[in-house]
Amino acid sequence: MDTAFFVAWFEDAAKVVRLRRDELTRLDAAIGDADHGANLDRGFAEVRAALTDWPPASPVQALVSAGTTLIRRVGGASGPLYGSAFRQMGKTLEEPVTLARFAGAFEAGVVAVERLGKAAPGDKTMIDALAPASRALALAVREGLEPLEAFERAARAAEEGALATIPMRARKGRASYLGERSVGHEDPGAASSALIVASLATVAGG
Ligand code: ADP
Ligand code: MG
Ligand code: MG
Repeated sequence: MDTAFFVAWFEDAAKVVRLRRDELTRLDAAIGDADHGANLDRGFAEVRAALTDWPPASPVQALVSAGTTLIRRVGGASGPLYGSAFRQMGKTLEEPVTLARFAGAFEAGVVAVERLGKAAPGDKTMIDALAPASRALALAVREGLEPLEAFERAARAAEEGALATIPMRARKGRASYLGERSVGHEDPGAASSALIVASLATVAGG
């Protein structure tokens, strides 16, 4: 996994977030303020622009640049949360990047979101997609899987985790203001997390 892999990851994520923007916004309209699709679309477009204007020289630089851009450019809870995740991934990642090192850095990114958001699994947030993805990656490393299969498993785990937020009652973020009325809707941040993890498999698959 070289610098080009990480740049391609953010490019694919930007493309998919744009394609699914209205769907993410609809999810946020149900239990939030209907801006999640727009927030992330603008954020990832800025990430792509930054990576083009200042081409990163390493995977770490790509992650830190993307994270910093999301923190600066996205108004809304998801910007600082995703931004901190990518920045922490970058600060933790050892090079040259192996799947095992990637999995370790991904876990550090998830922990950064949990700390900043003071959220735990079951609170109906992006954590409910990211934490299962991280576990799937760690398991794939132990089983000695190739990156493509590992990322496919992580993507499946994230998607299942996102769908599992539907019956949950939100305990963090705007959706928590709705209390019991948040039940029955997929969390928008969990849905976008599943898309971003799926991009890993898309890029690894070539
Ligand atoms: P905002 O709620 O500020 O409008 P977004 O709509 O862009 O921001 O993002 C909302 C998503 O952010 C939620 O669906 C949830 O997944 C995630 N989120 C919000 N607050 C938290 C938190 N404290 N911890 C983890 N994730 C959170
Ligand atoms: Mg919102
Ligand atoms: Mg908002």
